[in-house]
Amino acid sequence: MKYNRILLKLSGEALMGTRQYGIDPVRLAEYAEEIKKVTELGIQVAIVIGGGNIFRGVAGASNGMDRVQGDHMGMLATVINGLALQSALEDADVQTRLQTAIKINEVAEPFIRRRAIRHLEKGRVVIFGGGTGNPYFTTDSAAVLRAIEIEADVILKGTRVDGIYTADPEKDTSATKFDHITFEDVLKKGLKVMDTTAFTLSQENELPIIVFDMNTQGNLLKLLKGENIGTTVQ
Ligand code: UDP
Repeated sequence: MKYNRILLKLSGEALMGTRQYGIDPVRLAEYAEEIKKVTELGIQVAIVIGGGNIFRGVAGASNGMDRVQGDHMGMLATVINGLALQSALEDADVQTRLQTAIKINEVAEPFIRRRAIRHLEKGRVVIFGGGTGNPYFTTDSAAVLRAIEIEADVILKGTRVDGIYTADPEKDTSATKFDHITFEDVLKKGLKVMDTTAFTLSQENELPIIVFDMNTQGNLLKLLKGENIGTTVQ
């Protein structure tokens, strides 16, 4: 296997499935099965999950809410998603731990780096909830930060599209996909992979990002087995 330890970033919106809001249990169960297959290969899996299916701080602020208050709500939304994913993984007989950046000790462990690594070494899937624990950040930044901290080999960003394109493929039919692209070229071409803070953190720490379509069943496994899936930023 090319990768021993991965950090999978899932957006909150991905959990909605066909719904307009919240969590689709069918989608959740599908994800759990995909993740289970990866652990069966002996790959260590950490997950950062977003909260956009429930609440985004920016959306709150645009409706007149205090931004920090909204971001706190957003971070709690990621914990809700983390609990849902944990439950789905346990239903699929996968051992998990949820660690949060904001302490909610009755519900989840606090984030402790060494402990997270120990869980991974024991084959448990570690879900990181609560983003970075700070307002004005995103879960993409949390994903990169945690990946660096736990020394993951790569970040896998599961999205709706199957990689990075020359233009938005949902708007421009002539857009073509990159298999590989450098961090510099992403910036030069003004392509959107992650928010700037997250992207720069990844670049500075030479942490590769693979953007791929998580909604096509089997894709995650194929990618990890070395098939040419998604776009690698390196
Ligand atoms: N958030 C935050 N700090 C963080 C991570 C997330 O304040 O470190 C808040 C922020 O309000 C954000 C929300 O949590 O809008 C949900 O996260 P995000 O938008 O990254 O989720 P995704 O788009 O991946 O579903």
